[in-house]
Amino acid sequence: MTIAAVNGELNSRVFDVDQVRADFPILHQTVNGQPLVYLDNAATTQKPDSVINAISDYYRTTNANVHRGAHSLSDRATALFEGARAKVAAFLGGAALEEIIWTRGTTEAANLVAHSWARYNIQAGDVILVSNLEHHSNIVPWQLVAEETGAKVLPLPITDLGEIDLEAYRQMLSPAVKLVALGHVSNALGTVNPVAEMIELAKAVGALTYVDGAQAVAHFEIDVSKLGADFYAFSGHKLFGPTGIGVLWGRKALLDTMAPFHGGGEMIETCSFAGTTFNRLPYKFEAGTPDIAGAIGLGAAIDYISTFNRAELAAHEEDLLNYCIARAADCEGLVAVGEAQQRVGVFSFLLDGSHPSDVGMLLDQQGVAVRTGHHCAQPLMARLQVPGTVRASFSIYNTRAEIDRLFEALEKVKQFL
Ligand code: PLP
Repeated sequence: MTIAAVNGELNSRVFDVDQVRADFPILHQTVNGQPLVYLDNAATTQKPDSVINAISDYYRTTNANVHRGAHSLSDRATALFEGARAKVAAFLGGAALEEIIWTRGTTEAANLVAHSWARYNIQAGDVILVSNLEHHSNIVPWQLVAEETGAKVLPLPITDLGEIDLEAYRQMLSPAVKLVALGHVSNALGTVNPVAEMIELAKAVGALTYVDGAQAVAHFEIDVSKLGADFYAFSGHKLFGPTGIGVLWGRKALLDTMAPFHGGGEMIETCSFAGTTFNRLPYKFEAGTPDIAGAIGLGAAIDYISTFNRAELAAHEEDLLNYCIARAADCEGLVAVGEAQQRVGVFSFLLDGSHPSDVGMLLDQQGVAVRTGHHCAQPLMARLQVPGTVRASFSIYNTRAEIDRLFEALEKVKQFL
């Protein structure tokens, strides 16, 4: 089933930011006496009514366990749950259903690959390359593998602008490199990494590639077959879906060779004390009762974003980022952190002489929600020699007027600090 088959309005909704805002009930409130300006979308996106309703409708009308087939509710729950998998498969460029594995999020997807592939295929002396831009969830799972196997995790250097140093990458590639784990987009700086090119270079030395798409999926279209990676992961909650649900996509031939992640119900074909055999893909990796409502909610989120022309959404977000960069240039004492050429959705900065957390607290008092701190990217903060940053991150429902509010609020912060 394609998205077109499940959603008659595919790509046809004209983008109008006021109408988009009307879809998101949480945006229409005051916080600390001011209208909310939500600029923490890289942490999690807000949810449209259609997603909230899909989840509550499911619990009101359909709730049952899936794949049991003993009664009508269960059949309906299964159809909705597997229908959501089909939406994800289409969303990733037409992947096969067996290649879509439900996880709790990007973090669990990385740990699945670490546990079920890396631990069995990586040995002492091997190398896992990660970039210096990564979120901890694309570093620590590989460090755990390295500890167990005697392999090494080496960081790919980045430039002062926050871009991967491709020349250094070329030099670090060798047959000892067994895995290259890359973020598609940096959560701390918004840098878009040249993953397609990097995957091709990794393949030339026989390394597998894992791409963390947590910060990419909400901003541009993904076609996993064109990208050429072996694994691609993302979280539903960063794509207007609920928390607690995410996706690991992997190449079928590779997933077939891999050991299960968790043991339990659903993931077995037969179970006996003489020996247990495992279910076919994708169920081999889905032990236990899954997050059925979460998957349905994520399916609704994919339906929602698929009603738009993605290029129009991207153009709106690019306008917001460029507007923010232009306003920042006139903001005395503001130091931008990370100025990659290819960037989406994120503006990270410091205010001269102020700690990021103080700035964040004073912005919150004025109704402006941003994230402050190391953004789960401590090695990146160490490389840039900053204690952390203030991060404003944008989504399709943000406006230029909200960015004006951010900068008005920053003026007050400067007076205060
Ligand atoms: N990778 C990146 C780039 C992220 O930004 C995040 C979350 O902020 C994660 C991974 C982890 O996602 P989750 O906590 O949903 O598993």
